[in-house]
Amino acid sequence: LPPPPKDAPVGRIDDGTFSAYAGSQRFDQLPVSQKTKDGLKEAKFTKMTEIQRASLPHSLCGRDILGAAKTGSGKTLAFIIPVIEKLYRARWGPEDGVGSIIISPTRELAAQLFDVLKSVGKHHNVSAGLLIGGRKDIDTEKEHVNDLNILVCTPGRLLQHMDETPNFDCSQLQVKITFLRLVSIYIFFPPPQHSILPVTSSLEQVLVLDEADRILDVGFKKALNAIVSQLPKHRQTFLFSATQTKSVQDLARLSLKDPEYLSVHDES
Ligand code: ADP
Ligand code: MG
Repeated sequence: LPPPPKDAPVGRIDDGTFSAYAGSQRFDQLPVSQKTKDGLKEAKFTKMTEIQRASLPHSLCGRDILGAAKTGSGKTLAFIIPVIEKLYRARWGPEDGVGSIIISPTRELAAQLFDVLKSVGKHHNVSAGLLIGGRKDIDTEKEHVNDLNILVCTPGRLLQHMDETPNFDCSQLQVKITFLRLVSIYIFFPPPQHSILPVTSSLEQVLVLDEADRILDVGFKKALNAIVSQLPKHRQTFLFSATQTKSVQDLARLSLKDPEYLSVHDES
């Protein structure tokens, strides 16, 4: 690891991970997988924007984020990278269920960020789906929704699946048996005795609200309350928007844990 720069902000609960990466300027300096680094490089992303520099060292070490930065400042990668990495670190794959939900206020924005997810995450073995309603047939979607790890959705369509899709359940801490490990036990001389040990891993879900100020707005209030009530309280939450959303009520509703408030105004 590169030593932390002298003026690096020191995190609150810091095991060293945060401060070691706080001064990073480029994506390849971050503690992310080679698959993500390759995806970013192929999409020609090298230097981080200010909101990415400010938030990624926090989000990658598990903190909740409340981030504000103007339109066009690169907020999408600020949440897509930690979402992908979290699944990767848990060795989460297509058969393991929903690990992350990204909510966007409009179909168009959801579709745009889904494209970014596909491009940056293309070397990863995770499944992602765009659930936005419109012309797409919900019955076909219902058959596949339980095979998705990352849901990119609008509030209404997500709620419709929560209400109608059989076995669609996001309320549990996700646990899976990662693989069966063959362990050889040698008793003095071969032949060895083999035993099969299951190895389990669990995943803390990630909830992302993009354009959070618009989603937290009155129009979506009911849908969002209903969605959040069906998610596990113990999770990682990211709220990104163009304006800072500090309303205590909103935060209580979303059960953010001691979030990192990041506000970036001038893009260099
Ligand atoms: P926001 O959500 O803050 O409005 P976006 O995430 O949509 O911003 O990004 C705006 C534009 O900036 C997009 O075209 C995106 O590809 C580009 N972009 C984002 N991050 C970077 C980066 N680190 N380097 C170069 N271009 C970037
Ligand atoms: Mg955006």
